[in-house]
Amino acid sequence: MSFKTSGLHHVTAIGGDPQRNADFYLRTLGLRLVKTTVNFDDPGTYHLYYGDESGKPGSLLTFFPWRDAPSGRLGTGQATTTSFSVPENSIGWWKQHLEISGIETSQVSTRDGEEVLTFRDPNGLVIALVAHPQGDPRNPWDTPLVPGEHAIRGLHSVTLSVSREEATAGMLTEDLGLTFTGQDTNRLRFSAGEGGPGAMVDVLVTPDAPRGLVAGGTVHHVAWRAPDEQTQVAWRAELLDRGVGVTSIMDRQYFRSIYFREPGGTLLEIATDQPGFSIDEPLLELGRALKLPPWLEPNREQIQAMLPKLNLPAENNPVHQ
Ligand code: ZN
Repeated sequence: MSFKTSGLHHVTAIGGDPQRNADFYLRTLGLRLVKTTVNFDDPGTYHLYYGDESGKPGSLLTFFPWRDAPSGRLGTGQATTTSFSVPENSIGWWKQHLEISGIETSQVSTRDGEEVLTFRDPNGLVIALVAHPQGDPRNPWDTPLVPGEHAIRGLHSVTLSVSREEATAGMLTEDLGLTFTGQDTNRLRFSAGEGGPGAMVDVLVTPDAPRGLVAGGTVHHVAWRAPDEQTQVAWRAELLDRGVGVTSIMDRQYFRSIYFREPGGTLLEIATDQPGFSIDEPLLELGRALKLPPWLEPNREQIQAMLPKLNLPAENNPVHQ
């Protein structure tokens, strides 16, 4: 394979009530809402993008929040944990902050030199906060409830659960250009480029676990970075040549996307870094207004009538602080 991803682009999950979802990720986890739009394939549903100050690739967790989403089931063929990177020495602060916020957390564990704290979002999605011993140079988003010194720096990694690892490992290394970097019992780690937070995936081998069901409170897909459209076009052609069932290129307005399934069952995406989230609104106002792609704009009134109102915390928009 001639192409190598530089790391995670975003993770997309299925949420529940959009207000509850926004309150949790903006207030409790202190992320920024970098885009309020709709699911382009189902415009009666929001698509909410959470990330850092500008929504850089590698900082993004996005949701389709369906109020009546049936609950999914964790299991193989899924990304079963979405991990965010936090500074060293911040895990204790987070444990206390989450408990004050009414979120039950795991004990802090240490894995491969990293401290890990695990909990679930209001809809059951499994989230981990991980402190990497070498730190994380990415800039945080600073909010009143989550000060910059402790704030999330971006995605750390995802955990893919599989019943057998060989074929999944083959796709990660040969089709995405990741490198196998270590194993701890039934957990295999793969890294993009130099590795580190935002450039890692763990493959957890659980042959006896049930098959996962993707629905409310589970991850829908995991997206990897491509630098530009030209690379994505050539990458797609090479995937097709190798027999991978990859979709056509889709215009997601803020990036271009192709999708394919890894042999263990998880849906993967390759998304371009460009054009990014300031293509249709200024950086300072990200997320405040409902943005629609040009082809849905003629139906704005109908779409807005279908969507529940969202009250955003003032800190999402620094203009109003
Ligand atoms: Zn995606």
